[in-house]
Amino acid sequence: MYLPPLLLESLQHAKGYDPDAFVFVHEQPASITSVRINPAKPIALPFSSLKVPWSDTGFYLEQRPSFTFDPLFHAGAYYVQEASSMFLEQALKQTMDLSKDIRVLDLCAAPGGKSTHLQSLISAKSLLVSNEVIRSRVNILEDNLVKWGGDNVMVTNNDPRDLSRLPRFFDVIVIDAPCSGSGLFRREPEAIREWSEHNVALCSQRQQRIVSDIWTSLKPGGVLIYSTCSYSVQEDEDNHDWILNTLDADPQPLKLAADWGITDTGKGYRFWPDKLKGEGFYLAVFRKKNEESVKMPRVKRKPVVMAEKDLPVLNKWMKTAGYTFIQHENTVYAWPADLVYDMSLVLQELRTTYSGVMAGELIHGKLVPAHSLAMSKIISPGVEKIELDREMAIRYLQRKDLVIETGQTGWKLASFEGHSLGWMNVLKNRINNYYPGPLRIRKEL
Ligand code: SAM
Repeated sequence: MYLPPLLLESLQHAKGYDPDAFVFVHEQPASITSVRINPAKPIALPFSSLKVPWSDTGFYLEQRPSFTFDPLFHAGAYYVQEASSMFLEQALKQTMDLSKDIRVLDLCAAPGGKSTHLQSLISAKSLLVSNEVIRSRVNILEDNLVKWGGDNVMVTNNDPRDLSRLPRFFDVIVIDAPCSGSGLFRREPEAIREWSEHNVALCSQRQQRIVSDIWTSLKPGGVLIYSTCSYSVQEDEDNHDWILNTLDADPQPLKLAADWGITDTGKGYRFWPDKLKGEGFYLAVFRKKNEESVKMPRVKRKPVVMAEKDLPVLNKWMKTAGYTFIQHENTVYAWPADLVYDMSLVLQELRTTYSGVMAGELIHGKLVPAHSLAMSKIISPGVEKIELDREMAIRYLQRKDLVIETGQTGWKLASFEGHSLGWMNVLKNRINNYYPGPLRIRKEL
């Protein structure tokens, strides 16, 4: 691997930089695979797995299995995520009381690694707004969050500057910033060709712009978590200094165990791949200085709430207690009842593409259930699950015809090891496979 000499030169003064070890580790193939399991969909890990030290749900795998052909991957039982990034968990746990109900913004969220992690860490009555500015990347974010199955999540598609419409709204803002990407060179050697000093400078400026754009939407006393997958000081420590010099922020130190191998630079935390099992990563936490309390705005455009008398149509499909059902044209969304104010405000102010759990479409007075309902915890335990073996589960996920013994006709959940994969409709002489076409496995086993 030919590392850009200008990058190596620029790292001479970066804390923890060991030139020989750094170059050596980049000559090794990137062989670390790690996953983070979904605490809402517990599985026994089939692999002899070592813990990622800074995350309760992160594990290293000895080998990289074929995730495509593992039904549990499609069930949202785990997320394949680079281990260093899981340090977000420490940033959140060490600076916030997570037993409290909070509002979290994941500003640069696609494809959803940090968002699925955040969703697992916050309380049931906390809200996660998962935002991605690039429209073409919103679908993958939505798909991953639907698979994860949480109900306290909204997906938005806004430019960071739009967030100023929600002043002092969020307790936590995560900026996993778009960056020059040198931390992932081992995994994406093609990115080396695109690296340039000029691009580092552009990224650094853009990162500053993003931070200043969202600063008003952070509550006084709230926490900003800033991270990059770049080694460049300009995007990391220099931006740390810029934040402290420009904004009303205090640095938040984190406790590290010595054997984690993470470098405390005094200006944030660095992950050097020659010192730990993970790729290049940088993270720093800031707290917004306290000021007078904030008055929350009124919701002027209230969403349409389904009338009590119409709820029986939902009863056989899902738990309705604790939820408010929002109707947008024929589509029904389930929102946690405690989050109606927050979610209405976000819906009013941001370009929202998904919220709560999309339950289904009302057609001629009946509900046609949505895939997201099948993946969520709000599904009624009364809905029948049909357990598939691995081969049949893969056929289901490939959207092929299914040949299985079933009992009565009707909508059923296709299930693998107890985890729902999606819907099928059992007719008298055939089974209709309702796994969403865009998600289907296109490869053959
Ligand atoms: N947090 C994600 C995760 O853990 O899966 C990865 C985020 S990636 C490092 C950075 C994201 O920022 C990309 O999804 C990219 O589309 C988005 N982005 C690009 N330009 C941006 C901008 N000007 N403002 C905000 N986000 C931007």
